[in-house]
Amino acid sequence: MVVAYLTRGEPLTRVRRTQALLTERGVAAFLAGPSADLRWLTGYNALPLERLTVLAIPADGDPVLLVPVLEEPRAASSGAADIAEIVTWEEDEDPMAVLLERVGVPEQGLLAVQDRLWSVFLLRLQEALPGVRWTEGGEIMRELRVRKTSEEIAALAEAGAAIDRVHERVPEFLRPGRTERAVGREIADAILDEHDEVNFVIVASGPNGASPHHETGDRTIVDGDAVVVDIGGTRAGYCSDMTRNYVLGTTPPEYAEIHAVVEAAQQAGVDAARPGVPAEEVDAACRRVIVDAGYGDMFVHRTGHGIGVEEHEHPYIVAGNAERLQPGMAFSVEPGIYVPDRFGARIEDIVVLDDEGSRRLNRLSHTVTEVA
Ligand code: ZN
Ligand code: ZN
Ligand code: ZN
Repeated sequence: MVVAYLTRGEPLTRVRRTQALLTERGVAAFLAGPSADLRWLTGYNALPLERLTVLAIPADGDPVLLVPVLEEPRAASSGAADIAEIVTWEEDEDPMAVLLERVGVPEQGLLAVQDRLWSVFLLRLQEALPGVRWTEGGEIMRELRVRKTSEEIAALAEAGAAIDRVHERVPEFLRPGRTERAVGREIADAILDEHDEVNFVIVASGPNGASPHHETGDRTIVDGDAVVVDIGGTRAGYCSDMTRNYVLGTTPPEYAEIHAVVEAAQQAGVDAARPGVPAEEVDAACRRVIVDAGYGDMFVHRTGHGIGVEEHEHPYIVAGNAERLQPGMAFSVEPGIYVPDRFGARIEDIVVLDDEGSRRLNRLSHTVTEVA
C-alpha cells in the first residue's frame, strides 16, 4: 500500500492560492463537486454520487465541505477536515436547502463552478440563487494546477519509475496464442503491484495497433505481431502513462522503419520542449520528422497532454495551442504512426520542464523489444 504523498501543509497552501486567485478575479466563491479539482484541493476522493457533495471556497473566509452523512468518515479521514469545516446532511433532508442555509454560499456576485458539477445540481443552484452570475471554474483551476510544485513533480517521478518497472515485465506476459485480454489482465495486476489504481491498459496487437485508443480485446496474438502497449495507473494521487512497442519474434523490416521514425520524432519533441516555447511547437517538432519521412497522414492525433492528478489535463500539446510552456509543467510526448490494417507504433514518455529544459520521467529504452 502506498501512502499519500502530499505533505500535510500542501492542501492548505492550495486553498490559499485558490482564494488569492478568486480575489484577483473578483470571484466571490468557487464551488466544486466530486472531481480531480476537489481531490487536488482537499485530498478527498469523493464518489460521484446522486447525493450532493460540494466544496465551497469563498474568496474570504473558511472553506466548507458539504457531504452526505454516510460519507463523513471517508471525508474526515482524507485530510479534508484540515482545510474545511465538514457539514453533513441527513438522508431525509434536502441537501440543497442545507447547502444554502448552512454552507454560506454567496447570494450575489460572481460564482465559479467546477467544470464537472452535474447539471442536476447546477440547475437547482441557479434557480435558488437568482442574484448570482456564474462562471466556469476550469480557468481558475487550470492556472493553479498547470505548474506542478516540487512535491507534485516528485510524486509524478515516482509514478513514472513505477510504470517503467511494469513495462520491464511486459515481455513475461506477451506470448503467441494468448489473447490481448489475457495479457492485459496480467499487466493490470502488475500495475497494481506498483500503483493504487489501474487507469487503463491498451494492448493493441498486429492490425489493432493502427487504432491509437484500441480497446484490449479478444484477438489472439500471433508470432510476428507488433504490439503497442500503452498503460497507466495512479500512485499516491498522481498518474503514470507510458507507451512502448513489442514484437513477437523478429521485427519485420517495414515495422523497424516506422518505429525508427517515431523514435526520432519523439526525441525531436522532447528536445523542443523548453520554457517559453509555445506548446504547439512541440507538436510541430514531432510532426515535422514524421511528415518528412512520408508518414504525415498516419500521425492522426495530437502529440501529448498534461498529466498530474488527472491522466489528461492542461497543457495540451496540439496545433493551435500557443500557450507558452513554463517550468513545472508536466506532459506526455507521444507521437505515433498508424498503418491501417497492418500495425502501429507509438512512443510515450512523460516529461517535466525545469528552468533549463525538459527531463523524462520514464527511463526505459525506446527500442522495439523482441519477445522470444
Ligand atoms: Zn490517450
Ligand atoms: Zn498513454
Ligand atoms: Zn498519454
